[in-house]
Amino acid sequence: MIVARDLAALRQARARLPRTLALVPTMGALHAGHLALVAAARVAAGHVAASIFVNPLQFTAAADLARYPRTEEEDLAALEAAGCDLAWVPDAEAMYAPDRAATVDVAGPAEGFEGAARPGHFRGVATVCTKLFLQCRADVAVFGEKDWQQLQVIRRVVRDLDIPIAILPVPTVREEDGLALSSRNRFLTREERALAPMLAREGFAAAEALAAGGPAETTLAPARARLAEAGFGVEYLALVEAGTMRPLGRRGDAPARLVAAARLGSVRLLDNWAIPGQ
Ligand code: AMP
Repeated sequence: MIVARDLAALRQARARLPRTLALVPTMGALHAGHLALVAAARVAAGHVAASIFVNPLQFTAAADLARYPRTEEEDLAALEAAGCDLAWVPDAEAMYAPDRAATVDVAGPAEGFEGAARPGHFRGVATVCTKLFLQCRADVAVFGEKDWQQLQVIRRVVRDLDIPIAILPVPTVREEDGLALSSRNRFLTREERALAPMLAREGFAAAEALAAGGPAETTLAPARARLAEAGFGVEYLALVEAGTMRPLGRRGDAPARLVAAARLGSVRLLDNWAIPGQ
C-alpha cells in the first residue's frame, strides 16, 4: 500500500494505478464500518484508495475536533490488511491553502437536522469531499448510510456540479446489540454504552410502525418520550423523504427514512432506518 502525504506524492501514486479507482473517505479511527466500505470499494473498482483526514472545516466545536480520536498507525495497518492500494493522509496544510477562498455550499438536503445542529458542517463536508474526489481522480466514492444526510448532500454535490464519479452507499454496520458503529462510541461510559442500543431498538420499531402509513407523530412522540425518560437528549427523531431530507407527516409512495440524533453524556449518537417494504 502506498501512503501519500502531499499532493505531489498522491499524483505520483495515482499514475501507478491504471485501473478504475474507488475512494473511501474517512476521518480515521477506523472500525468495521469503515472496513465494510473498503470491501465494497474492492468489488466496485480495480484499485482502492482510502483517505484519512480529520477535516477541521466540518467541525463546529473546537473541543470536538481536539478530542477526535487519532489512531493513524493502526488505521494504516487495517487498510493495508483490507486490501487498500493507496492511503491518502494529508495534513491540514497539504489540504488547505492558508488563503483558500472557494468552498462548496449546498442547500436542499443540507438544511435542517445536522445542518441546523452544526452550522457550516456540510459546507466543510462538501468542500473536502469535492477536493478528495478531484485530488484522487476517483471513479467511485463509497459512503456509509450511517451518515444518511451526508450521503444525500454528497449525491447532490456530484449531480449538481457534474463531478464524474459514482456514489456507492453501504448499509450501516452495527454491534450485535444494534448500536451503529462510530468512532465516537469509545467516549461512552460503561453505563451509557449499556443504554445506547435503545436508540436503535426504538428506531427499528418506529420504522416498522411507520411502514403502515399512519401519522408519523403517533409513533414518534412516544418513542422520543421513552428515550428522554431513559436519559437520552433527543435532538430529533423524524420521518423524512429519503433523498431530499424534507420532513414527512406520514410515509407515502416515495422512499422515506427515519433519522435520529440523540445525546448520551458527551456523545452525539446518529442513526437512521429504512422504512420496511420500500
Ligand atoms: P467517518 O470516519 O466517521 O467520517 O466516516 C467515514 C465513512 O464511514 C462515512 O462514509 C461514514 O458514513 C462511514 N461509516 C461510519 N460508520 C459507519 C458504520 N457504522 N457503518 C457503515 N459506514 C459507516
